[in-house]
Amino acid sequence: MEKKKKLSLPVQIFIALVLGIVVGLVFYFTGAAGFTTSYIKPFGDIFVNLLKFIVVPVVLLSMIDGIISMGDMKKVGAVGWKTILYFMVTTAVACVIGLVLATVFNNAGLFPNLSEAAQAAEYEAKEYAGFMATLVAIFPTNMWKAFTEANMLQVIVIALLFGGSILAAGEKSKLVRDMVTSAYTVVERLMEFIISLSPIGVFTYMTWVVATQGAEILGSLALVILCAYIGYILHALLVYSVSAKAFAGISPVKFFKNASAAMIFAFTSTSSAATLPVSKECADALGAEDDISSFVLPLGATINMDGTAIYQCVATVFLATCAGMQLTLSQMILIVVTATLASIGTAGTPGAGMIMLAMVLEAIGIPVAYIGLIVAVDRLFDMGRTCLNVTGDIACSLCVTKWESKKK
Ligand code: ASP
Repeated sequence: MEKKKKLSLPVQIFIALVLGIVVGLVFYFTGAAGFTTSYIKPFGDIFVNLLKFIVVPVVLLSMIDGIISMGDMKKVGAVGWKTILYFMVTTAVACVIGLVLATVFNNAGLFPNLSEAAQAAEYEAKEYAGFMATLVAIFPTNMWKAFTEANMLQVIVIALLFGGSILAAGEKSKLVRDMVTSAYTVVERLMEFIISLSPIGVFTYMTWVVATQGAEILGSLALVILCAYIGYILHALLVYSVSAKAFAGISPVKFFKNASAAMIFAFTSTSSAATLPVSKECADALGAEDDISSFVLPLGATINMDGTAIYQCVATVFLATCAGMQLTLSQMILIVVTATLASIGTAGTPGAGMIMLAMVLEAIGIPVAYIGLIVAVDRLFDMGRTCLNVTGDIACSLCVTKWESKKK
């Protein structure tokens, strides 16, 4: 008897995406969007809860395991600085793309001028603690608190400190090394199970988004959203496919085909952190070295946000128009710098990029309350920016793998 062939995960996820759009449209046009919020989205929430529950052990163990497998702190340092360099350069390019595109759209009169609505806009920004206080807060005072609050930057610092100490302790740390490797194997198994449920997560979220936000897509912000999406696509094509080809020797078609499961997953879940297990599978399938992807991807899911940077630049130019401001060259440079920093500070969770947008607006002198103009459609911006964020992490892990292998 012929064995039934199982569809691969990317195919399953793609089918779930298309089905989600179709079913979402049905709910949208029958005016039953409320049903999706009450009874369909909760299944997606269960799935995302599972991903969130696994994310701290995944980041912690995968980074420590990656550091242990690298064998010495010299390699960790080399991988570390190359990773950070890739992240910083690509994020700065993302800001420039976002700014140039938004300026073109703005000058062509394509952005709506919502200056009247802006007066009534309400949004209360979280108080920004300042650069030095933010830097200090990266270092944990209590390990368990960092875990329970899922403070990923602190979790990364903990992983670096423990990973480094295990290496420094040499032979005497054998028991701990074995425990980490064994625990990580178990967590990987658990991850595989949770990831196998991802088509359900993708279907339910997509149905809900299309059913509830269908109207907004056609609303007055459509061109602002379009501008951000052109930026996301340009960045993916220019920066990631070129760097995958030039540095890692992987053709763009192969790159995007293999990264598609993580991209679709990020698009629907709007969380880089939750997508981490899927990104790891994609990166490894594309040939990233296990110890390098174990190190680069958790770091990237926490600090590398090119999509967020593009969004913040586009949103800032748009909101400046609503504020009746004409941006000068020095203000634009300030936007590039602050959006790069704000995107680094953005957590890999839904909507975090919009919260950090306040930092960029404040630097330019645009009222933060204006964020109220775009808050309703943030999920639409967020889907694309998260998709781009994780694609950048995967591309980086491939490039660093190649750079490191050349040294051997
Ligand atoms: N949702 C994004 C992410 O997880 C962050 C953002 O809101 O920009 O990558």
